Amino acid sequence: MLPDELAAEFKALGLPGYRAGQVFRWLGRGAASFSEMSDLPAALRDRLDGIYTIPALTLLRRQISRTDGTEKYLWALPDGESVETVLMRYKHGNSVCISSQVGCRMGCAFCASTIGGKVRDLAASEMLDEVLRTGLTAGAEISNIVLMGIGEPLDNFDNVVRFLALVNDPSGADIGMRHISLSTCGLVDAIDKLAGLHLQLTLSVSLHAPDDATRSALMPVNGRYGVEELLAACERYFKKTGRRISFEYAMVRGVNDTAAHARELARRLRGTGSHVNLIRLNHVPERGLEPSTPEAVRAFEEVLSAAGVTVTVRRRLGSDIDAACGQLRRGQMRKSWNSTH
Ligand code: SAH
Repeated sequence: MLPDELAAEFKALGLPGYRAGQVFRWLGRGAASFSEMSDLPAALRDRLDGIYTIPALTLLRRQISRTDGTEKYLWALPDGESVETVLMRYKHGNSVCISSQVGCRMGCAFCASTIGGKVRDLAASEMLDEVLRTGLTAGAEISNIVLMGIGEPLDNFDNVVRFLALVNDPSGADIGMRHISLSTCGLVDAIDKLAGLHLQLTLSVSLHAPDDATRSALMPVNGRYGVEELLAACERYFKKTGRRISFEYAMVRGVNDTAAHARELARRLRGTGSHVNLIRLNHVPERGLEPSTPEAVRAFEEVLSAAGVTVTVRRRLGSDIDAACGQLRRGQMRKSWNSTH
């Protein structure tokens, strides 16, 4: 619940308004029970405990990368499902990559998260708890959030928007919108809806190909919204919010990494002020696609820069614990956890 909703709830119980504020602050710091809320009278804590439950996530596994310190968390949800969260430590602060759904139904050909389809959406409180509980367990202050874990955030629109309001609230976790990135495979209607909310977050769009033939082979969603339509929506988004789009481009050997692809991408993005993140595909054994060679990535990057498109090549964090982009997955969880533990 948001502060005003909690206030209305407590009012109906005959409680004074400031009690809702106290409880909201505790929840925003990750309190997992009413007994922790030390500034509430004991009788009130008991009463609230009798009415409500705080469905906190419980830790199943925590893995720490030997190579770069990236951490991966496997959380149990109250109904027995589970999701993964990744913590990345950077010089500029700690960032968590959270999941927005249990599984995913977008069907991208290179992604492990979609292998078993979608099981269910995550509630706003569950996404908030991924952030809070990861920070508490790691003993790390969280300054940035990326919605780039398992799931398609815009396919769980209302819960994600509610999560954003919760995590952004000054009396809660208080994480600024400019410190939040949301990544989508390109659901055009939802991008337009999001634009209407005028949030200051960073929208990342998983483009992965500059033309319909290549993109449709990798991403079924392209059959619904083609490249032209998607880029037009990105343009509208930028006009409405003033926030430039960042495009993700996972480089797949021999599929989307040729000079012709680079030139076509440059042609489409030139002058839009958008940014391109290139990342070598992370190998997902079930998928049968290979990462581009480092040389192909460099050549691709050069074509884009020469055309005036800003581009960065992403580092791959957490590869040794299967925490890298696209590797988070539910169906394979037992196998991968066992083999790396
Ligand atoms: N559903 C959202 C967010 C989750 S995926 C989206 O599609 O954007 C986060 C990013 O990882 C996306 O850009 C996705 O395309 C990318 N990704 C998925 N599998 C990958 C892989 N094997 N290697 C590299 N990136 C991958």
